[in-house]
Amino acid sequence: MRILLTNDDGIFAPGLTVLEAIARQFSDDIWICAPAEEQSGAGHSLTLSRPVRLRQHDERRFSVSGTPTDAVMMGLREVMPAAPDLILSGVNRGANLGDDVTYSGTVSAAIEGALAGIRSIALSQVYASEGMGDAVPFGAAEAWGAKVLAPLLDAPFAPRTLVNVNFPALPADQVQGIRVVRQGFHDYSRGTIVEGTDPRGYRYFWFGLNGIEHTPGHATDLEAIQDGFVSVTPLQLDLTHEASLADLAGRFG
Ligand code: MN
Repeated sequence: MRILLTNDDGIFAPGLTVLEAIARQFSDDIWICAPAEEQSGAGHSLTLSRPVRLRQHDERRFSVSGTPTDAVMMGLREVMPAAPDLILSGVNRGANLGDDVTYSGTVSAAIEGALAGIRSIALSQVYASEGMGDAVPFGAAEAWGAKVLAPLLDAPFAPRTLVNVNFPALPADQVQGIRVVRQGFHDYSRGTIVEGTDPRGYRYFWFGLNGIEHTPGHATDLEAIQDGFVSVTPLQLDLTHEASLADLAGRFG
């Protein structure tokens, strides 16, 4: 099984090392193509307005001066000699849950894989406290990664679908199990904008993402993580709201 790994936290991200260790439990045919620098929040953006540089770090390890989507595209079209059987994106430093998945470079790299017709899975490690930087504990992902991947490797993936996995912010031995759940949703507007002044005296603004407020009881990814479970959520690329189609069509005669 040939596997392509990527990580929106960049080619040197600790979570990519964690993912490589998980992937090597299934195969030695591992290829890595990741952004050269952190691209968290890049979503599904594709670099169009400037060239992208490809750098080879060793035989099967490459970085791209672009977005997670750029990295997957380069991995599939330039780096790998043949298409992979599996694309794994992560393990992200931080959650990719609920409505946030469209911001996510981690999920979007898996979306790009799904668009290419390849089985693609995004993996993220939730963590509890801010300011941990590279010290974010990946213990839950390390211990539960292979357990959650194994059943997904021969599960049927419908075209234009992917799977989003999040590991709870718990030591491995306190993880309660695995739940297959739907994508959650925010109840309230959220996030902060921090204002400051740069060294030259100009105002700047910096977006932050705070904890997500949500109502429990909806069997969502957010609830599973809060309850201490690994969340597994199948996602689809077709964002069409089926229930609105007929009404909207009627309004246009
Ligand atoms: Mn990230």
